[in-house]
Amino acid sequence: TPVLYWLRRDLRLADNPALVAAAADGRPVIPVFILDPETETLGAAARWRLGLGLAALDASLRQLQSRIVFRRGPALTVLSDLISETGAGAVHWNRSYDPAARARDQAVKAALRARGLQAESHNSHLLFEPWTVETGTGGFYRVYSPFWRAVKDRPVPAPLAPPAALRSPAAWPVSARLEDWRLGEAMNRGADVVAQHVHVGEDRALARRDLFLERAVGPYRDRRDYPGEPATSGLSENLTYGEIGPRQIWHAAMRARHEGAPGAEHFLKELVWREFAYHLMFHTPHLLERNWREEWDGFPWQGDNEAARRWRQGMTGVPFVDAAMRELYVTGTMHNRARMIAASYLTKHLMTDWRIGLDWFADCLIDWDPASNALGWQWVAGSGPDAAPYFRIFNPDTQAQKFDADEAYRRRFLAELSPSPGRDALDFFRAVPRSWGLDPARPYPRPVVALDAGRARALAAYEARRP
Ligand code: FAD
Repeated sequence: TPVLYWLRRDLRLADNPALVAAAADGRPVIPVFILDPETETLGAAARWRLGLGLAALDASLRQLQSRIVFRRGPALTVLSDLISETGAGAVHWNRSYDPAARARDQAVKAALRARGLQAESHNSHLLFEPWTVETGTGGFYRVYSPFWRAVKDRPVPAPLAPPAALRSPAAWPVSARLEDWRLGEAMNRGADVVAQHVHVGEDRALARRDLFLERAVGPYRDRRDYPGEPATSGLSENLTYGEIGPRQIWHAAMRARHEGAPGAEHFLKELVWREFAYHLMFHTPHLLERNWREEWDGFPWQGDNEAARRWRQGMTGVPFVDAAMRELYVTGTMHNRARMIAASYLTKHLMTDWRIGLDWFADCLIDWDPASNALGWQWVAGSGPDAAPYFRIFNPDTQAQKFDADEAYRRRFLAELSPSPGRDALDFFRAVPRSWGLDPARPYPRPVVALDAGRARALAAYEARRP
């Protein structure tokens, strides 16, 4: 009897435990992707990018005479239909960790097992399962450094080889056409602009990893904070859809470390920040939607407002912040330093609720990740675990002088600052909706709030309500 391989955020053939388990014993494998209500909630850019990843994996599977069966609907209904259509006796998948997916997966597993079917989940998305990392007293970690110390010397399983062949079922079940789902339809900006910046699929992901380890890992520790330089790996885009797995990165970076690459250890540490975010999301799922520290619940953050709208539109009049927001719009990603500055400016200078920013990132990022996004926002806002203290307010101008001294980053994304703007700067104006009414020929906007006044206001609010 055939086996269903339910694929989700694991769009790769290599190091794929669920696929390997499904293909064991040479049974026919039916890979299935389900556009279910949980997946329907994806932001516009992530949804569009997911479609590209699915098309790429489908093409790779076709080289093995296999394919993806696309179906839409609640996961359990779709899987049950496929089981009765094909006589499949087992379903394998790789785990997800956000609360909605976990609830869904638990219900699916229980229902299938109750019918005597085999339903197995596997780990492909993380180096360390969140429940396996415990403090001395059996709790979970709330602070990164001890978390890192707890995991850094743990053995990480070697990546699994991709299956050499996959047996097809006697007949392929009916599949929707991926194109008919129009996953890019909700993309709120010219998808053709962002398309110039994506690196889709397993091969591109591995090439990206190798290029980074060959060229950039050496100075990574010193250069990773400079947004104008190609100093980071860009792998978040691929990790989030599982086009590469963390074990494949870990082992390659470990080799680089053994060979003496100075930045390799720091790179491994960043990869473990991602693990830490998943650890926290697993143990405290409210990380995704409520102040992680309840003391912050009374803080007078504003809801959506005019200044926040200008923040979304890259029109605050603060060059580093606007460059960051335009990078997001044009490329679908944002440099980590820029994420911190843009988030700090929104939550502190503009006193706007971090969830307004979280939602905008979720809609615009092609590397959107529920855990890392929420941890990043709560960390910057001060409401999160291991957070920056509230009174440490980044000054975006000073940050720009330090991390973008030659203005390469600001000029790349701000057309108004250059007599002959480059492609990315102009693409921003091509990509934004006409309703925003933006025009590169108009002078660069004046600051929506003076930096010192914004800072003083935030500090006063903090002093008044010090949690
Ligand atoms: P590299 O520097 O090459 O790092 C390698 C990998 O380590 C990354 O791909 C990523 O998986 C992990 N990593 C690095 N820094 C962090 C970090 N601070 N937290 C968690 N993991 C990290 N990352 C996302 O993947 N998706 C998000 O939606 C996201 N939202 C963020 C929102 C805010 C407000 C902030 C401050 C950070 C956010 N991050 C997010 C974390 C970080 O900015 C990105 O992971 C990083 O910029 C990705 O670029 P890279 O792949 O070149 O990273």
